[in-house]
This record gives sequence, C-alpha cells and structure tokens, in this order.
Amino acid sequence: MRRDVPTLVARAREGDPRSVARLISLVENDAPELPEVASTLAPFAGKAQILGLTGSPGVGKSTTTNELVRALRKAGHRVGVLAVDPSSPFTGGAILGDRVRMQEHTTDPGVYIRSMSSRGHLGGLAAATPQAVRVLEGAGCDVVVVETVGVGQAEVEIASLADTTLVLLAPGMGDAIQAVKAGILEIADVFVVNKADRPGADATYRDIQGMLSLGDRAPGEWRPQVLRVTAVRGEGIEDVVSAIEKHRAWLEKTGELRRRRQARAAAEVEAIALGTLRARMGNLHEGTALDELASQVADGALDPYAAAHTLLAAL
Ligand code: GDP
Repeated sequence: MRRDVPTLVARAREGDPRSVARLISLVENDAPELPEVASTLAPFAGKAQILGLTGSPGVGKSTTTNELVRALRKAGHRVGVLAVDPSSPFTGGAILGDRVRMQEHTTDPGVYIRSMSSRGHLGGLAAATPQAVRVLEGAGCDVVVVETVGVGQAEVEIASLADTTLVLLAPGMGDAIQAVKAGILEIADVFVVNKADRPGADATYRDIQGMLSLGDRAPGEWRPQVLRVTAVRGEGIEDVVSAIEKHRAWLEKTGELRRRRQARAAAEVEAIALGTLRARMGNLHEGTALDELASQVADGALDPYAAAHTLLAAL
C-alpha cells in the first residue's frame, strides 16, 4: 500500500508526532516512497542546527542528551533527537534501552526522540541518517541531535557530518587513547569529559588538552573546547550549550557552515548513488550476469578489472 506522502509531510509540518514517526520509518526501511518524501521535504532543508554526539558505550551519551534537550527547550528551541543504532548486536539493544532515560521529554510536543536502525537501508547509515534529519527539520525542529555510539569508523563519520560534533569521554575508560585511535580527535569540535564527579576526570581533561596542544592550528581555526560535565546532576550543561553557540558563530563567520553542509550533501548523494548501484548490481547477480563474469574470473579466462568494467557497462 502506498502512503500519501504529501499528507504525511503536511501533518508532520503541523507537528503531528505519528506522521513524523511514520516518515522516519519509511527512511529506515528504504521505502519506495523515499524519493517523493525527499523532494517534498527539500524546501525545508538547512534550517536546523545539526549536532553530532558520539562516544563509547557507557560514557553518558543518553544522560547528557537528556540534559542537553532540557537546556535547549529552556532556550525555546524545538528539538529532535535521533539515536542511530548501528545495528550491532552489542549496542543496538543498549541504545533502545537507554531511551528510558529520556522519558521526561516524551510528553513534550516540542521534542521528538527517535531511535533508528539502518539495517534495511541499502545506502546504510550514511544515507539513512541525513534523510531522517531532513524529516525532523521538516517537522520544525531547529536543533537536531544525532547520537551515535562511537564504536566504529562509520559511526564516527556520521557524527562528523554534523554542523557541530561533540565527543563524550569519561574517566577511567582509556578513552583519551581510544579517541586518538578511532580518529575521534580530528572530528571533535567540543570535547565533553563527563562523569567529572569521578576520580580521574581531571587526568582525562588534561590528556585531551595536552593532545590538542600538540596539533598545529592556523590562525582563525577553531580550537576544540574541552569541558567538564557531570551529566547525572546536570552540572556543566550550560557550558556545553554556550560552546555550541560559540562554535555556531564561528561556523557562520568563517563560511565553514556552508562548507560542512555541502560536504554533508555530497556524502548523502554519494551514499544514495552507491546504494542504488548496489541494488542494481544485486539484480544483475540474480540475473546471473555477475555469476557468469565471476565464473570467468575464477577460471582465469577474464581479469577482475575487465569483469568489473563489463559489469558497470551493463548498468
Ligand atoms: P551511554 O551508553 O553513553 O548513553 O551512557 P548513559 O547515559 O546510559 O550512562 C551510562 C551510566 O553512566 C549510567 O549508569 C549513568 O547513570 C552513568 N552516568 C552518566 N552520567 C554520569 C555522571 O556525570 N557521573 C556519574 N558518576 N555517572 C554518570
């Protein structure tokens, strides 16, 4: 059954949470209506500030997001939260379970909270996430928080597609070192050292400051802020909000906002194109074109480059 996309979008724009939820489900499931959804939503793009929030499991992402939402609501923003489930057997359940921590916002009509998996999406996280952000933007959210578990390169990349990327760390998790390994140091605009009530938080704070001081920075370049937060008590959250605002002002002043958004759009288009290509390739596979080529390559009758060339030509 095809859904009436213009009606769904119109209702979502009026703030109907069920329509927002249905649109995000269409994204999640890579529904055939997606191109229509995207074209209907296109005029509303670019209005929201996109915040990426990433960190290892247990650092306090959902606790922090919860507090952040509270602070942003107090400042009068409509807020969307997208908790991206990387579909890993380890983190998927945890992320959904953690939504319990955000229940205080579930009755607030100015807040949309949604977990999303990209299991069914051919373009994967990279294609699904920006589409879901577009839905939330279309629904009138002026801040969208994209929360990802910083477990792999893909999740780090998703976070880095935001206007402002917050990386959460906690003491005693070897996180400072992990951050360097995972390439997180390069993507963070704001470091949040959470659990500042715990011993070791100051050491983590100093580690990050120390690592940042090693890097060369051109004049006018953004120097990532490092903040200490105790999310369970809501302490330090105002500093996070002001760091986000400061970063936003810098993004606008330097033209970096435009550059980031264009880079994000490029990644989005590329992910959709690759997903489409993969789908067609799958069709070819079923139609034995790929099987036929593969068998020739396996026999040494054809080299893999020539086979790939033939395959692409058939698309
Ligand atoms: P996530 O997995 O990154 O989303 O982390 P959660 O927000 O679920 O937090 C993981 C655990 O850390 C929970 O038991 C929280 O209560 C606890 N936690 C979160 N923030 C703080 C904090 O500031 N201090 C302390 N001591 N514990 C915290």
